[in-house]
Amino acid sequence: MSVWQERLNNLSIETRAFINGQYVAAADGKTFASINPATEEEIAQITECGDIEVNLAVKHAKAAFEAGVWADLAPRARATIMQKLAALMTEHAEELALLETIDTGKPISDCRAVDIGGSIHTVQWYAEVVDKIGDEIAPLDPKYLGLVTRQAVGVVAAVVPWNFPLMMASWKYAPALAAGNSVILKPSEKSPLTAIRLAQLAKEAGIPDGVFQVLPGPGSVGKALSLHMDVDCVAFTGSTNVGKLIMGYGAQSNLKRVWLELGGKSPNIVFPDCPDLKKAARAAAGGIYYNMGQVCTAGSRVLVHEDIKDEFIQHFKEAAKRYVTADPLNDKTTMGPLVDSIQYEKVLDFVARGKAQSTLIMGGEAQKINGKGYFLEPTAFETQADDLLATEEIFGPVLSIITFKTQEEAVAIANNTHYGLAAALWTSDLSTAHKVARKLRAGTVWVNCYDEGGDMNLPFGGFKQSGNGRDKSIHALEKYTELKSTMIKL
Ligand code: NAP
Ligand code: MG
Repeated sequence: MSVWQERLNNLSIETRAFINGQYVAAADGKTFASINPATEEEIAQITECGDIEVNLAVKHAKAAFEAGVWADLAPRARATIMQKLAALMTEHAEELALLETIDTGKPISDCRAVDIGGSIHTVQWYAEVVDKIGDEIAPLDPKYLGLVTRQAVGVVAAVVPWNFPLMMASWKYAPALAAGNSVILKPSEKSPLTAIRLAQLAKEAGIPDGVFQVLPGPGSVGKALSLHMDVDCVAFTGSTNVGKLIMGYGAQSNLKRVWLELGGKSPNIVFPDCPDLKKAARAAAGGIYYNMGQVCTAGSRVLVHEDIKDEFIQHFKEAAKRYVTADPLNDKTTMGPLVDSIQYEKVLDFVARGKAQSTLIMGGEAQKINGKGYFLEPTAFETQADDLLATEEIFGPVLSIITFKTQEEAVAIANNTHYGLAAALWTSDLSTAHKVARKLRAGTVWVNCYDEGGDMNLPFGGFKQSGNGRDKSIHALEKYTELKSTMIKL
């Protein structure tokens, strides 16, 4: 028995919603199953929130905000409590990683390093920054004093996906809390466990009741929050389709601020003067197989110059050997299952349709570990730029390799998508790097690397239908604050 399996056997799992500082079951007693996608077994029955819980949580969030129990603390005091939260998350990092792995199938070592490590870093970072940024004094006629200040927006609903459950949540609640808001977190029904556990740690850290609440449940909980007249802002990460709905809910209700981080079909362009083709191939493999391709910035389209295509593919196949499906509770595992049977069927369907239209060069077979689980081996196709696989976001370990002849053609193919989340290019020429980076319609451009997204200083988000607003960096604080002009006649 692995050490993680042993820890799992001794783990007691909290399954209820967290409202006004208490764990509670749903008023109607409803629950839903949380399934481990590696074993297909039920982990627990989770509280399924409904309208009663949504209304209750919003009422408490609003009351806490208006009472000023959090919003009116000195920024330094909020920072201290958030540092305490980061410390508690660090103390419980292994437990959080374990919960994330069983809930989603993500490899345990990735959960520790990236999901939980990244979440802790995010909380620390916003705690560090919140008492370091001041406001502005406007250059008015000296008969006046003009203050330009930022104030918390109020009640923030964070509706987040399952691919990096705690980390995507942290990118929302950490800046929102730092700025003084009340936050209601709605995790995906595919991955509620870490959010539920976090609530207790937030309480222990000293975050007042009503300021941080967690409502597990289906998409309808996100919908109810987004339509609620007393929710001032909804921060969403998920699919473009649901993002469009949420913008509509904002319009139908109170014009709440709507911030969207949506999908992508990110191009990774390899020019013939690529400084190190082996390195590029390794980065390309990581770009599509890390987290089983369930990454919004997945480098799902590699655009490679025709002169180096064969050599690149050879290196790519070699690099992809690092990704082997196995038990996600093993420290050495690099690839777990897809998150659930729905996502699995969706991706397998893409692969089947891809086999009919494009050229399979690697993988393509479903797999089982110990006879169970939603595993798919690393898969790659050679495609035309407008093939199904090269245009739809698959959200699985399925790469499209597209050949190009000229720089102009590469840029045109790269931008020929309604997404604009990320892009990358590989070149030894400084001018090519700058020129192409500027032309790419994407919120993040990597040059001679892929998906190096760890640094909190860089804003993260999309052009076009990949969303609006930015997570991470001090710019994320803008989403959770309103600008106020105060003019004083002296
Ligand atoms: P999704 O189906 O859009 O779900 C995202 C969240 O919205 C979940 O909590 C979901 O709840 C909830 N939801 C579903 N229907 C809703 C509705 N009508 N109103 C309000 N909320 C609703 O996305 P997903 O499949 O979980 O995640 C994959 C997508 O997220 C991909 O497109 C990916 O590119 C994108 N993503 C983007 C980023 C980024 O930062 N840009 C990061 C990660 C993922 P349930 O899951 O409980 O139904
Ligand atoms: Mg699950």
